[in-house]
Amino acid sequence: MQYISTRGGVAPVGFAEALMMGLGTDGGLLVPAELPQVDAATLRAWSQLPFQALALEVMTPFIGDEIPRDDLARLIEASYAGFSDPAVTPLREAAGRTYLELFHGPTAAFKDVALQLLGNLFEYLLERDGGQLNILGATSGDTGSAAIYGVRGKPRINIFILHPKGRVSPVQERQMTTVLDANVHNIAVCGTFDDCQHLVKTLFRDLGFKARHSLGAVNSINWLRILAQTVYYFYAWGRSTGGDPARRVSFAVPTGNFGDVFAGYLARRMGLPVERLVIATNRNDILTRFVADGVYAKGEVFHTLSPAMDIQVASNFERYLYYLLDRDPAAVCAKLADLEQTGALTIEPERLAQVRADFTAAAVSDAETLAQIRATFEASGYILCPHTAVGAAASQDAPETIVLATAHPAKFNEAVREAIGREAPPPPALTGLMDKPVRCTELDASDAALRAHIDAALPAA
Ligand SMILES: *Cc1c(COP(=O)(O)O)cnc(C)c1O
Repeated sequence: MQYISTRGGVAPVGFAEALMMGLGTDGGLLVPAELPQVDAATLRAWSQLPFQALALEVMTPFIGDEIPRDDLARLIEASYAGFSDPAVTPLREAAGRTYLELFHGPTAAFKDVALQLLGNLFEYLLERDGGQLNILGATSGDTGSAAIYGVRGKPRINIFILHPKGRVSPVQERQMTTVLDANVHNIAVCGTFDDCQHLVKTLFRDLGFKARHSLGAVNSINWLRILAQTVYYFYAWGRSTGGDPARRVSFAVPTGNFGDVFAGYLARRMGLPVERLVIATNRNDILTRFVADGVYAKGEVFHTLSPAMDIQVASNFERYLYYLLDRDPAAVCAKLADLEQTGALTIEPERLAQVRADFTAAAVSDAETLAQIRATFEASGYILCPHTAVGAAASQDAPETIVLATAHPAKFNEAVREAIGREAPPPPALTGLMDKPVRCTELDASDAALRAHIDAALPAA
C-alpha cells in the first residue's frame, strides 16, 4: 500500500516510511492511496474472530508485503498480551446501553490500543532497517503515559515526555513518573501545557538538532493510530450483529482530536455497515458547531470534567476534510489557508449535506456529564468515566447506539466522586501507583535547558 499526503506534497511512500514519518513532510497528514474494500462474505467470516486475528486481517491490506504476515501476527499478539481482559475490547451492557470498553490496556485508556502496537512496530522496523528513534512529546494527560508504556524498555528508542509541573492529575503524573526504565525520560516543566508544546515545537524546528538526535513524534496524527483503532469498530460490529451484513450498528464517540471517530468513518468507507457515527464533544464544541452550520471556527479552550477532550483544533480533522473534498489536495490546501488566515473555514451547502450524512454531533455540558454518570450508576452500578459519559449523553435519543468507553473511571475519580459520592475502584493498571518510586527531572520552560538535558541524556551521535 502506498501513502500520500492530504496536501499533495509527498511522493507516495510505503507503510514503513509513512509510519516513521508521522506528519507528512509537507505538513499534511498521510492517507492510503486507495482504501481496501471489505465485502459481505468477508465481514461474515471476520465477525467471530478473536480481536488479535481480526486486527491481522484488517491491517494486512494497509501494510501489504512490507511486513511478513507471521511477523505482523507476532507483533499484534505481543501488543495485546498485556491487556487485562482476554477479549481486549469487550462489549459490556449496563442500564440499557452497550459500551465498547477500550480501557483494559496498561494505562487504562483507549490510546493503549494503538500505542502498544505503534511501539512494537517502531522497534521492529528499527531492528530490521537499523537506526535509533528519540521520541519527544508534550502531554496534558493521557497520551504521555500511553506513549511511555508503548516504548518502555525498547533498546533502540528513547522517549522524552514533557508535562506541566503540578498541572496534570496526580494519577496521570504517577502513571508517567513511576516508569523507571532507562529509556524513559520524564520532564516536569515549570510552566503550562502551552509552554511544553512550544518547547517541543522549537526543538523540532531546529533541523540540525532534530537530525543529530533522530527526533520523532508520537502524536495523534500517526496513520497507525487510526488504523489500529478501526479494528475495534469491526470487532464491535461482529460481536453485536452475529456477522449479518444486513444489520447496521451506530457508535457514539467521545471526541477531541477526531482520531477515534475518524477511525469509525474509515471503517464505514471500507464497507463496515455503520448506521450513525455520533461525534460527542464537551463544551469545546468546534466539531459540533461544524456539523450544525458548516463553519469550522476556532474558539477559546475551556477546562471541563473530560479533559482529554479539551481541544479546539482537532488534528485529524484534515483527514476527513480530504475525503469530504473528494480527495482533492488543492481544495484541502485552500480551506486550510482560510482557516489559517481568518480562524475559520466554511463548507458549501451541498457538502454540508454530506457532513450530516456522515455524522451527527452533540455537545454535552459538565452538568449533563455528571447527571449521566449518576443515572447510569443508580440504574446499574456501572461507573462511567466522564468522557464515556459524554458519549452516552450525546446518544441518549438512540439507546441502541454503542458507546465507546474511552477510559477507566478510576483515572478520573474527581469527577466520579462529584457525581456519585464515591470513587471507582482502581483496575490492576492503577493499583498501588501512589506508593511506587518515581523518577522525573524538573526543568525551567527554556529551550536551552531542554536541549542541554537531551544532549546529556543521549550519547553524541
Ligand atoms: C484522547 C481521549 C479522547 C479523545 O480522542 P480523540 O481521538 O482525540 O478524539 C477521549 N477520551 C479519552 C479518555 C482520551 O484519552
